[in-house]
Amino acid sequence: QVTTLVDPHGRPINSLRISLTQRCNFNCFFCHHEGEHGSGDELTVDEVERIVKLAAEQGITKVKLTGGEPLVRKDIVEIVRRISPLVEEVSMTTNASRLKELAGPLKDAGLARVNVSLHTLCPESFEEITGNGTESVTTGIEEAVKYGLNPVKLNMVVMKGINNEEIDSLIDYSREVGGVLQLIEFQELEDGVEHYDSYHYDLVPVEEDLEKRSNKVVEREMHLRKIYYLKDGARVEVVRPMHNSKFCAYCTRIRVTSDGKLKSCLMRDDNHVPFVSLMRGGAPEEEIIGAFNEAVSRRAPFWRDE
Ligand code: SAM
Ligand code: SF4
Repeated sequence: QVTTLVDPHGRPINSLRISLTQRCNFNCFFCHHEGEHGSGDELTVDEVERIVKLAAEQGITKVKLTGGEPLVRKDIVEIVRRISPLVEEVSMTTNASRLKELAGPLKDAGLARVNVSLHTLCPESFEEITGNGTESVTTGIEEAVKYGLNPVKLNMVVMKGINNEEIDSLIDYSREVGGVLQLIEFQELEDGVEHYDSYHYDLVPVEEDLEKRSNKVVEREMHLRKIYYLKDGARVEVVRPMHNSKFCAYCTRIRVTSDGKLKSCLMRDDNHVPFVSLMRGGAPEEEIIGAFNEAVSRRAPFWRDE
């Protein structure tokens, strides 16, 4: 019987976000790289499987695969096949560029759903933002829907002067493809305060407008994110972490970096716990479980009320 994992701030932990690589075939100018500055070393399939098995035994029920771009890993289907029986849900955040050929095999391997990053529908802006073309991405989204990787969530990072005028067209597109639009607040990069001031776009007024256009609003357990059910049939979720103490108070996640360290918070780089190095060194199981619990004990809300 697995009991609920709870951190020292009373927050239950049920989800594990694993970065599978720092490599990416896109080059988004604003990418926070999941806060990673690691060695570039990557986990093997066996290591990912062992991590998920151990985490599941400690109470984790959901795994999200991310990166870098998880689909650049040649063994991605095998990773999903091995870990999907171990937890209730495996999902992935991806740029979708390889979903055309991989949506079917990933679904067969047990992937439940995908989040696809789509910040604009304008081909020129897409090229400017990502350094790549839109076509493989929109085809990838269609394939994901076709193979039932649902709900397909479209992640739009909203940036002032870049794509803030496109929120309504992305809402329409997500409704047309049968997806859910996630509006994501631009997050500060460690080295990019200047960047932040130029591109940060306040999503509070956007939420107020969505509220008026909705016939139902639901608050999710994770981060208290709101989902707006618009009267026109679209679904829009808003992810607004910056300076938001509520967001952190309801954070249910722990992370593994692509080089195998446990990371207690996206925003922090100073309290990682070595994890896979213990496995590689043949440490006893209790020590490895101890490291997992140590990482849980280091979790602290990043944004708090003063
Ligand atoms: N390559 C995959 C992708 O682009 O979806 C997964 C990795 S990406 C780092 C994970 C998510 O973080 C994507 O939805 C991406 O748009 C988002 N992201 C990256 N940099 C960000 C930033 N500075 N602020 C907010 N979200 C960001
Ligand atoms: Fe969780 Fe807050 Fe850290 Fe984000 S910043 S990972 S919400 S604790």
